[in-house]
Amino acid sequence: MKYITKYKSPNYNSRNNSKIQLIIIHYTALKNTLDAVSYLCNKEKKVSSHYLISQNGTVYNLVEDKFRAWHAGNAFWQEITDINSISIGIELDYNPKGKNNKFSTQMIDSLKKLILKLQKKYKINKNNILPHSDIAPFRKKDPGKHFPWKSLYSSNLVMRLKNLKNNEIKIMENWFSIYNLKSKKRKIILALSLIGYDTREIYKNAKLYNKLIRAYGIRYLNNEDINKNKSIYNTLIKHLFNFMLTKN
Ligand SMILES: [Zn+2]
Repeated sequence: MKYITKYKSPNYNSRNNSKIQLIIIHYTALKNTLDAVSYLCNKEKKVSSHYLISQNGTVYNLVEDKFRAWHAGNAFWQEITDINSISIGIELDYNPKGKNNKFSTQMIDSLKKLILKLQKKYKINKNNILPHSDIAPFRKKDPGKHFPWKSLYSSNLVMRLKNLKNNEIKIMENWFSIYNLKSKKRKIILALSLIGYDTREIYKNAKLYNKLIRAYGIRYLNNEDINKNKSIYNTLIKHLFNFMLTKN
């Protein structure tokens, strides 16, 4: 893995002693690595990331881990809105509309090595490797529907959702009944909220609800199941069960 440290971004500040807990994955939506380096290191743009990975797998360290880079923007996860303070941001040189519209093998290999290194160093939970679209689902799509989550699951870097046995499904059903939630939609929202998503506005706003469901579906469901309430519900029950077992 080629590792380059000579380009530095001025766009960072102090973490104020916040612990690093999350890794956020982005795509740049720019033309190429050169453009991305100059963008992320441009003082006027007021954005940055700790790392940028090129199509050929080169890793650029633009901001030191100990500093707070500016990549998450207006975001939310597990009741926390200052995501930059508790996260490491990784940008991928990828543009869905550009020539760099593939997640190359070299890029993903480097990403996996980098995640493994950061996970070990900062003891980051497998639940906490997140796409930008999970922490800002109402305005961000990156890293998008073609990002190879399966490859990260199979390398054991992110949590794999194990199927539930019948008695485990019963446990979850009983657990929901304590909350006295009648509709599937209510249960879906509660599960999303417990996992960490921003559900503050989605109760009364169908448009936002659909955006969040879409962000969730892209990551956890097969294409054909993405709009099926039942599939979303079943996946969320499984997700919540797995999440509660591996929370710490
Ligand atoms: Zn992003």
